Parts: sequence; C-alpha cells; structure tokens
Amino acid sequence: MPLHPEPPWSKDHPDGAAHRRTEGHRTLTEAWRERVADAPDSPATVYFDGVMTAREIDDDSDALAVGLAELGVGRGSRVGVHLQNIPQYVLTMLALWKLGATVLPLNPMYRGQELRRLVEDAAPVGIVCADTQVGESRRTLSGSPVQWLLSTSDRDLQSRDDPRVFTPAERSFPSSDGDLVRLIEHHRGRRPPRLELTGEDIALLTYTSGTTGPPKGAMNTHANVLAVTSTFGAYVGLRRDDAVLAVAPLFHITGAVINAALALLHGCRLVFTNRFHPEVVLDAFTEHGVTFTIGSITVFNALSESPRATPESFRSVRALYSGGAPIPPATVERFRERFGSYIHNAYGMTESTSGVIAVPPGEVAPVDEASGCLSIGKALPHMSARAVDPSGTPVPPGAQGELELSGPQVVPGYWRNAEATATTFPSGRLRTGDVAVIDHDGWVYLVDRLKDQINVSGYKVWPREVEDVLHQHPSVHEAAVVGLPDDYRGEAVVAYVSLAAGTTATETELVAFTRERIAAYKRPREVHVVEELPKTLTGKIRRRALRDPDTGTPAGG
Ligand code: AMP
Repeated sequence: MPLHPEPPWSKDHPDGAAHRRTEGHRTLTEAWRERVADAPDSPATVYFDGVMTAREIDDDSDALAVGLAELGVGRGSRVGVHLQNIPQYVLTMLALWKLGATVLPLNPMYRGQELRRLVEDAAPVGIVCADTQVGESRRTLSGSPVQWLLSTSDRDLQSRDDPRVFTPAERSFPSSDGDLVRLIEHHRGRRPPRLELTGEDIALLTYTSGTTGPPKGAMNTHANVLAVTSTFGAYVGLRRDDAVLAVAPLFHITGAVINAALALLHGCRLVFTNRFHPEVVLDAFTEHGVTFTIGSITVFNALSESPRATPESFRSVRALYSGGAPIPPATVERFRERFGSYIHNAYGMTESTSGVIAVPPGEVAPVDEASGCLSIGKALPHMSARAVDPSGTPVPPGAQGELELSGPQVVPGYWRNAEATATTFPSGRLRTGDVAVIDHDGWVYLVDRLKDQINVSGYKVWPREVEDVLHQHPSVHEAAVVGLPDDYRGEAVVAYVSLAAGTTATETELVAFTRERIAAYKRPREVHVVEELPKTLTGKIRRRALRDPDTGTPAGG
C-alpha cells in the first residue's frame, strides 16, 4: 500500500471523499487495519519506556480476541473494562471491536452500588479489571450476569523484558478467572475470523447521567466514533508524527475517542501515564514530545500550579484542548502568559460521541460580553448546532436557547431505554440540556444549564444520587445537594441536610458515610447541617436558594 502523508480516512487523502461516502458502513476495525497496513512498524503506544508498534498491538489484540471468543464473547456481547489508562485498555478495545463486541467502560472510581447498577443494566458477559480490584469486583458482582473477570496490572507492562510477571505465584491478589497478558501469550499467532460488521454496530456503551438523571448507556456506534476521528482529526490537523497524551480517562468518551481512537487511527503515538500526577504528566510532555492532548480544566490547573512547569515543558505542543467543563477566560490567559501555550476550548457530550464544537487551532476564542463566558468554539464540519426555544424552534443569532445538535456523531439512542431516548433525541436531534448563545459568526457560548447536574472537573454528578446515599444514614431527615463554584474543579458538591428528631450527626461522619458508597468526586466537600431546608409553598426544596444565597436565604447553616 502506498504511503500517503495523510491517512486514508482524512479529508486530505486523495481517496478521502470515497472513504467519507462509505463511512456509515465502515468499522473501527477496518480503519485500524488500514492504519496497521500503512505503517506497521511505527510506534502506536508509549508507556514510560515501553513502546508498542502498530503491528505488535494488532497481533496482541488478535490473540486477545481469540481468547475472549473462547470466553463466550461474540458480536453484540458487552464486556466491562474497569481499568485506568494503561495500554491494555487499547488492546481490549481493539480485541472487542474485532469480535463485533461492545466496550462497556467502567469508571475505576466506582464503588459497589454504582458498579452493580451499570452491570445490571448493560449485562456484560465479563469484565477486564485491575488485579487489585478483583476481590472487590467479585464481592460486588456475585449473582450478577457477569460470568468471568480477567485481570491485568500496569506491572504486566514490564513483562516483555521481564517474564517473571507472568508467574501467578508472584501475585498477592485474589486470583481472577484469567490473566489478560497470559491469555494473549496463550493464543499468540492466532487470528479471529474476519466478520461482516457494519457502522451501526455499537462500539462503546458509555453510561452517563445525560439530561435526565439516572445513568443510561449511550450507544456510540462504529460510525459515530469514525465520524469524530475523521472530522476532529482533520479539524485539528492531526499528523502521523503527532504524539497524543492520553490524559483524559479512557472510561470517559473524550478519553476513549479523542485521545485513544483518534491517535490510533491517525497513526500517532498514544502516550500513557498510568495516572494523573502533574510531575509525571509534565515529564511525559518533554520526554515524548507531546504535541496534542485534550483534558479538563483541573488538568490544566494542576499542571500550571506545579513548580516544575515551565514554558519548556510545553515546547513540543501544537494544540491543547480543554473540554467537559467551563474554563474561565482568566485561566486560559494565565496559562498562555506563563507557558506560551493557548488552551483551546472544546465541547461535547457522551451522546455526541465527544467533541462537536471546538475552537479552531490557531484561533483565539472570543468572550461573550454579557455573560463573561469564553466561547466553546464553532460546530465541527458535518455537525449542526443550533439554539432552540422550548418548542424546538431555532432562536435568532445572539439569543439564548437550548443547544440542539444533529449529525453523524449523535448516537442513535440509549441502551434499552425508549423513554429517555424519546426525551433526549426528539426526531433524532440531541437536546443537550445546555443553554447557548450562537453569534452571527457561528461562535457558540454556553451561558446556563437546564439539567440538574453538577460538573466537577468534567465528571458529572447527579445530585439525586448523592441525596439518596445521604438519606440512607439513619439520622438524615432530608438532604439537598447542589454545585457551588470552585476555582480548581469548576464546581464542588455541597450538601445541606436536616436531621431526624432526637438524632445527631456531624459533618465528618456524614462525609465518611458517603465514602464507602460513591466515587470520590461525587462525595460532598462540605455537609451543612441545617434546621430546615428552604422549600416552595408546595413543599419542593428550593435548590436555587441553596446555590445562590441572593435568591433566597438558606435556613441555618
Ligand atoms: P459528558 O456527557 O460527561 O461529556 O458531559 C457533557 C456536558 O459537559 C455538556 O452537556 C456540558 O454541560 C458540559 N461541557 C462539556 N464541554 C464543556 C465546555 N467546553 N464548557 C462547558 N461545559 C461543557
């Protein structure tokens, strides 16, 4: 196959138009195989000092696919992936896609109930998890549809040079039903059968609170993901010599699609650091010449607060993007002044398979004078973004309306949830629950939110879920959870509770109570014990009064 400077799915490739026309029928596996054939020996993932070429990843994911097929995985099966950002995540994703199976990303921070709820809804046949989590997963999932757990560890990555890590005796964790790396070794050299899949097969089943609260699985199809990788890749001008840092978690749609799939399919190096630590991430920037990444405001705050960060740290960068949460104009300005790198804003939802609106590289986003909001950018090619009134009629430029999206990145709906699908996707268009203003030049500004959601560093918290946990405490009579501004995380979860007559509970005790039951980012940073919660005449809790003291006085606290 000739070596083109642009990969075949890019719009600048001579065959690009043909590829785009057939995109609806293509799969991620085909796009990946083309990438491997194009440059098999180019590095595809980098993890500290360990580099894997495209061919090695392809061979390993083939062997893993054979092993997974023997564990009962086939077209349409769901398999949970309960891992941090490590290269085995990518091997598992590719292996599942080769089988026509669906990746069910599971947030490693999830506690028992949170995990169980997702697993009961999605019914995965098995779960690939961190070796350290096997014991807890087994306890949580007993009696669930999950038939097996396959474990792996970031220590396995040293295994290529150090075969000792394959020895089970060295492992001090409870045994799983299998070990991912050993499964690959066992089936090395074997290939899964080539299946006739379509772009409509579900690549990722990504759970989100969406606009209506309880978690539901957005069905991100192969065509959805390919639409993002081709469009976003062309938009930001991604090149084969780019190094993309996987800083957004792969269990979130942005990490899975804009970091991982985008880099893998464009022939870039995907650079991993096993967890987010500012110094490790800064080292990764310089050691691996990172040119592109997308993270959240908290990532950029943490990096800029590190005493080790200098303009030299970001010398290789071509484009930095921030998504998932609002980013104050002052943060962007400070970062640019200190490091000479501009943070481009980008907007997307799980239901739009990540980024759909972004600041074009090299351009500076305007700030809306009325709201002080930094623009989230302009709609990507092939995507339509408009602001609509409650009847769904577009409002004129400059007026506020609910942001509505349509185009090839929008998912066909939620997994086995016709009601939420009908509410969020009336006639196939995605009602985002975000309030936007779009100006005459197409710049979009997010000015408000209709949905009951708290945005902590880009992680979404549904207040009801935290309230339900607080209600389980025997002393809690009523609880209301709101998001309050937080310079570092964007918003912080804050709870107000009133206690049952004759009982006592301290703030520390209530925070500790939530610790065992929900992920760390959902835990209230403050719990205020008040006499009574502010209510409307009909007895509904007035959240706005708790969020914004100017609109009403919170009782006590
Ligand atoms: P998720 O499904 O977790 O990706 O969350 C999507 C939501 O994150 C959107 O509906 C917005 O409320 C919020 N969001 C995403 N990107 C941005 C951004 N650049 N600025 C402000 N809010 C954002």
